This record gives sequence, C-alpha cells and structure tokens, in this order.
Amino acid sequence: MTKTCPCGKVFSPKRSDAKYCSSACRSAAHQGRLAVAPTRRDPAVPDSDLTSAVRATLEAAGAEGAPLGIAAIELARTLSDPSTPASSMARLASQLERTLAAATRGGNASSAPGRLRSEFLRRRAAQMGGA
Ligand SMILES: [Zn+2]
Repeated sequence: MTKTCPCGKVFSPKRSDAKYCSSACRSAAHQGRLAVAPTRRDPAVPDSDLTSAVRATLEAAGAEGAPLGIAAIELARTLSDPSTPASSMARLASQLERTLAAATRGGNASSAPGRLRSEFLRRRAAQMGGA
C-alpha cells in the first residue's frame, strides 16, 4: 500500500494512519509550512462531500492551485478520512476553517457577504464609469 505525502512524494507508510513521508514533513505540516506539491486527484478515491465543497469554494475564488488552497483540500481529505481519529476532528476542522478563509481572502466567493460586497462595488464602478 502506498500513500502520497502532501509534499508530493509517494511512500509506503509503516503505520496505516501515517500521512507524511517523513517526520520532517509531519512537523512542517503541523507548523503550516509544508511546501505542498499540486494535489493529484486519485480517480479511485472520490471526493467526499466536504472535500468537494472545499474544492468548489476554492475554485470559485480561483485559489485551488494556491499553496493555502492545496493545504485546505488536504485538510478536508484528512477530515473525511475514516482513519482520522475523532480526537483530532475539532482541531482539524478549525484549522480547515482558518486555512480556507485565508486561501479565499481577496477572492470574490469566500462568503455570501463577500459576494454581495463585490457585486455592490462592481455596480458602483460601472456607475462611476459614466454608464
Ligand atoms: Zn513528504
């Protein structure tokens, strides 16, 4: 059995719940500074509802390929992974929330209020453009 570390390396984990190829990657990931490679979609593993929702949010914000976007997708996958211990769920969920918010910051689809605000600004700009 092999897994793909967020750094992009395919490895054979010694433990079934291992997520990283090395302790260096694990500690880097926990400190939020793992240099992640673009996520390859494994066609054998369909996205969970959560991962799909996160991916859709990132795509709408154009942030899917950004490092924080990739990190958010990895977090969603970890949360959806049945092997993830329930004791880690709350921490992972709040980490995902923060990562997703950071990844979509400045995007126009990060939240409904954000969409409304950017729509409002767009109309204002059109009016001021002398339409
Ligand atoms: Zn790694």
